[in-house]
Amino acid sequence: MNQNDISQFQHHLLTWYDDEFRDLPWRQTADPYKIWVSEIMLQQTQVVKVVPYYKRFIDAFPTMHDLAHAHLDQVLKQWEGLGYYARARNLHKAAQVIVQKFSGSFPASEAEIVKLPGIGEYTTAAIMSIVFNAELPVIDGNVNRVLCRIFAVEVDPKSREGRQIVRQKAELLLARGHAGTYNQAIMELGAMICTPRSPGCTVCPVNTFCQARQKNKQADYPIQSPKKKRPHKHIAVAIIWRNDKILIDQRKPQGLLGGLWEFPGGHVEDGESYEKAVIREVKEELDINIKVTRFFTTVFHQYTHFTISLHAFLCQFISGRPKALGCTDWKWVKMEELSNYAFPRANGKIIEQLYESFASGSI
Ligand code: SF4
Repeated sequence: MNQNDISQFQHHLLTWYDDEFRDLPWRQTADPYKIWVSEIMLQQTQVVKVVPYYKRFIDAFPTMHDLAHAHLDQVLKQWEGLGYYARARNLHKAAQVIVQKFSGSFPASEAEIVKLPGIGEYTTAAIMSIVFNAELPVIDGNVNRVLCRIFAVEVDPKSREGRQIVRQKAELLLARGHAGTYNQAIMELGAMICTPRSPGCTVCPVNTFCQARQKNKQADYPIQSPKKKRPHKHIAVAIIWRNDKILIDQRKPQGLLGGLWEFPGGHVEDGESYEKAVIREVKEELDINIKVTRFFTTVFHQYTHFTISLHAFLCQFISGRPKALGCTDWKWVKMEELSNYAFPRANGKIIEQLYESFASGSI
C-alpha cells in the first residue's frame, strides 16, 4: 500500500467505526481503571460474555482502591465462570501495586504498565492508546485476522516470522494522532465484520484494500499450522459428607485455577481404579480417611491445552482431622453454602447436578 492507500484505509475504517461502534459499557468511560478491567476480561473471552461480568465486577469494586483492598476470595467469586483465573489474581495483585506505588492512579508510562502483574504487550498497547492516545498498535486475535487477510500474509501469524510481519503491517496502518480510536475500530472490524467464518466482505469498509478478497481466498487466512491433539486427563474427586456438611478445599495460589475452591481429588494414575484414586488423593491432599459410597457423575471439560473427565464420587468421612497438605485451606460447608465460594467451571457442573439430585431426593 502506498501512503494514499493507507490514508484511505484509515479514513474508511474510522468513518465506519464512528457510525457502527457498539456502545459497550467500557466505551462510556475514560477511567483507566475500568478500561484496564475490561481489557483483562476481554482476553480470550467474547464481548457478549464479558459485559455482565464487567458490570458486576465494577459494581463490586468501583475503584482501584476497592479492588486492592478486597479479599482475593471476593475477587475470584466475581470472576467465577469467566475462566483463565490467573487474570483475576493478577488484576488483584496489580491493583495492590498501583495503590502502593502510584497512590491508586493508573501509571501513564508504558515502562511502568508493562511491569505490572498480568499485563503484557497487548494490554499495555490497548491501555496506552485508548486512555493516553499513545501511538502503539494493538494486536489481538481480531486484528491479527484482519491484517492477515488484508495483506494475504502467507505464514502462520503465530510463528516468529508471522508475528514480525503482522506487527510491521499493524505499525504501517496505525492512524497517528487517532491511535486509540483506530485500535478500537480495527478490533471492532474483526469482531463484527471480518469474522473467522463467513466474513461480511460485501459490507466491509476496507474491502477494496483486501488481498485475500481479491484472490477470493478469505477462508485461507490467517494461515494455520497443523494443530497438536490436546491430551485428555482423568480426575477423580470426592464429595465427602459428614452429617449435613461437605468438605471442600482451596487450590494453592499459583498455577491453573489457583485460589479457587474445589472438591478434593486428583489425577488417576495408569492402571488405578477411580475409587482407589479418589481415596489416595484425598489422603495425600488432606490426610483423612474416606469411604466411597457410590459413583455420582462424570463431567467433561475443555481447557486450552488439555481436556478432562472429572469423575465424582459420593464419599463418607471415616477418620482424621483435615490438614492442608496439598491445598491452601479446607472447610466443611452446607450444600446451600457452596454458592458462596468460587469454583472452577467443571466443579460448578458437579454442583449443579448435586442441587438437582438433592431437589429430586435421589441423594
Ligand atoms: S474484505 Fe472480507 S476478508 Fe477482507 S478485511 Fe474485509 S471482511 Fe475481512
